[in-house]
Amino acid sequence: PGFTEENSRWQRRYEKLFSAVPSAKIARDLDAELSSEPGLTTTSGDRRRVERIVAHLRSYGLEPEITTYYAYLSMPKRVKVEMTAPDRVTLPVKEEKRPWQKHYDDVIPGHNGLSPSGNVQGEVVYANYGRPQDFELLEKQGVSVEGKIVLARYGAVFRGVKPREAARRGAKAVLIYSDPADDGFTKGAVYPDGPWRAPDGIQRGSVAQIQLAAGDPQTPGWPSVKGAERVPPSEAPMLKDLVPTTPISYGAAAPLLKALTGPEVPQEWRGGLPLTYRFGPGGTKVHLDLENTFEVRPLWNVTVRIPGSEHPEQEVILGAHHDSWTYGSSDNLSGTENVLQVGRALGKLLKEGWRPKRTVVLATWDGEEYGLFGSTEYAEERDRQLRDAVAYVNMDGAGGSRFGATTTPALDESVIDATKEVRWPGTDGTLYEAWKAQNDGKTPIGRIGGGSDFQAFFQRYGVPAMDISAASPGTAGNYHCACDDHYWMSRFGDPNWEYHTAMSRLAGIATLRLANADVVALGYRPYAEETARYLADFTEQQRERLGSVVVDVSRDIEQAKAWARAAAALRDRADEALRDGDTAEFRRLNDKIMQTERDLLTQAGLPGRPWYRHQVFAPGLDTGYATQRLPALYDALFGDRDVRAAKEYEARLFRSLRAATRTLAPGGDR
Ligand code: GLU
Ligand code: CA
Ligand code: ZN
Ligand code: ZN
Repeated sequence: PGFTEENSRWQRRYEKLFSAVPSAKIARDLDAELSSEPGLTTTSGDRRRVERIVAHLRSYGLEPEITTYYAYLSMPKRVKVEMTAPDRVTLPVKEEKRPWQKHYDDVIPGHNGLSPSGNVQGEVVYANYGRPQDFELLEKQGVSVEGKIVLARYGAVFRGVKPREAARRGAKAVLIYSDPADDGFTKGAVYPDGPWRAPDGIQRGSVAQIQLAAGDPQTPGWPSVKGAERVPPSEAPMLKDLVPTTPISYGAAAPLLKALTGPEVPQEWRGGLPLTYRFGPGGTKVHLDLENTFEVRPLWNVTVRIPGSEHPEQEVILGAHHDSWTYGSSDNLSGTENVLQVGRALGKLLKEGWRPKRTVVLATWDGEEYGLFGSTEYAEERDRQLRDAVAYVNMDGAGGSRFGATTTPALDESVIDATKEVRWPGTDGTLYEAWKAQNDGKTPIGRIGGGSDFQAFFQRYGVPAMDISAASPGTAGNYHCACDDHYWMSRFGDPNWEYHTAMSRLAGIATLRLANADVVALGYRPYAEETARYLADFTEQQRERLGSVVVDVSRDIEQAKAWARAAAALRDRADEALRDGDTAEFRRLNDKIMQTERDLLTQAGLPGRPWYRHQVFAPGLDTGYATQRLPALYDALFGDRDVRAAKEYEARLFRSLRAATRTLAPGGDR
């Protein structure tokens, strides 16, 4: 959809040429090279990785650019975790070196990015996943974490939620470990015999409060260029409510859990270690000595601009982060390598005289791992240009057998269409067919929440975004671990490098269709209908949780229905214009289509988190990754119990829905 017959033929011809270029051998060679040393953001290994990326892009005939931003971040200087009771044992804080791993000394020990330093001793309390409801259960049990060291397992929610909940209850520190039930031996054979996490495997990762803001913590909302104004760390939303936190392996956690006393935990709290899980406190004491150095350091995005022949100001951006906690073959050299393969293919097309109609931007971002630094600073610096951006396509983990997508509802159709054009390895059909086969005949698409580089584009600037991923069984086992290396990918993740190749094709086709469509294929009727359903749910939730409806959203539901009708009428107009080849009409329609997602923003931002502006989707305050629908309404009413604020946000949402309807309606008068 979105193409005239003539342009559709043109597009298909170039898609064919494009698809023939990505290759498994290139994917493998790129990964062997780029993962040859760790690429932690702002380090010299990262810089060398950036130079390598630039060299490849140049060799494809493209003109890459390096852009530098400056971010406040932590590096571990001293990490000491010692069990002091019942026995005195120093626990390991880094994986063992495997024989094939080069530059192993540059792999940092276990580190939770942006955690404060601290030197504390105390009794241990086990807190399951460290979610609000887990701490509530502890309270019910009469177990206080005040002055204690919380031991929580990874999983269920973004890790930054765990120390926040612990800090709010007065805990001294947090240890987060990977339980084998979640990604270790309970699941299958462990590295290096299998893909799952070995007893020494540690999940590093940021504990920045990404639910509140993203990017360099000291410049929330503006670019961290040289000389930029910086808020002091004490005022940075991303650094709020933290206590010293560090990750450990299950090998290290086992003796701590084993010696814990107190009542046994309920079934859902039990992990996979062969011991009796207890709440504590008692039995186990820990001394944590954590020294993290904080400084402002430079980081480097790489971008390539391929100017559009007809609408150079309208960009389609394809991005993936290139920084990694360790070697990073999965997270996220897979995405980076796919962006490079798209670049290589476009380089070939350009040599044959092809040009995209809109500008295509290829990007590899730096500093994602600490809090989406590179992509967010880029977006914050280019907020004006982004008003004309058509879409942002993200890959973060894109070299495995199981496909997944999260999008704005406006891009559902684009994702589905593109999957029909790509053959899926290990099957004799398309990705579309494989995707359905993996999901009981359905094509489940999630909604954008938190946790990767789409955030600033979508949630702050209203650029329609999609995230496409592909992970193999066991990928969770290498997450942010020294074992996320070329060996792992070659043996377990994508031994033939064909999933990488297929994902390169998918990303390229999705990007090129958005870049070349006569009428951009963003679908707002389903979006409007979905929003109406969310509003109906919100009403239902009020009845359930409050016993009555205190914030009436019936006018919003009516407005969403009007928006759906306007979208349907616009689709009819587009079909007619495409039949007639009416280019003046294309321009009018595209302006409307691109404006609509922006109409859903509120400049005031969401309650308590002004950086976030999208009123239909935001990362959940208690989940971090998973999306919260209608976040302003839910957070104001059910979180803050602030009826007045909830009503104010209802009025804002109503105005936005009305604006979206008017935007899509005939005429230019909005
Ligand atoms: N994707 C990274 C993670 O989950 C970064 C998330 C963030 O801090 O923004 O750790
Ligand atoms: Ca910033
Ligand atoms: Zn990633
Ligand atoms: Zn990551």
